[in-house]
Amino acid sequence: MAGKKRNSRIEHLGHLLVLISLALWLRQDLILITSLSGAGTSLLLFWAPSTCSAPTQKKEPCRNNSKGLLGGCHITQHRWARYSGLFGTEPVSDAFTGWFSNAQRKSATAVMAIGFLNLVASGGALTFTSLP
Ligand SMILES: [Zn+2]
Repeated sequence: MAGKKRNSRIEHLGHLLVLISLALWLRQDLILITSLSGAGTSLLLFWAPSTCSAPTQKKEPCRNNSKGLLGGCHITQHRWARYSGLFGTEPVSDAFTGWFSNAQRKSATAVMAIGFLNLVASGGALTFTSLP
């Protein structure tokens, strides 16, 4: 139970960091926006609790617990299934399977996407404002 509570706190922390980074646009503190949205997106992609959902030999999604939207379970092939989907050795759909499988994952995916867009926007703005 304690592990479940801690994992849930990590997901909430990821959501909170992305929301704070959105609110910081009012102050236009680009360094802080970029840092917080990057940290929140990373937490959701690599540490927030999730289910594995890698395709099994029975062609069904794996139901084991995993860390993050991109993480796999304790089975080594499942851990690499998503990354190999991202880098072209497996179908791209393998990288994103299960991201919308339940309400918790849908909210994590939505907040992660918002955080990623926020990271790109603030990183771009930071780059162009720091040019001579
Ligand atoms: Zn798995």
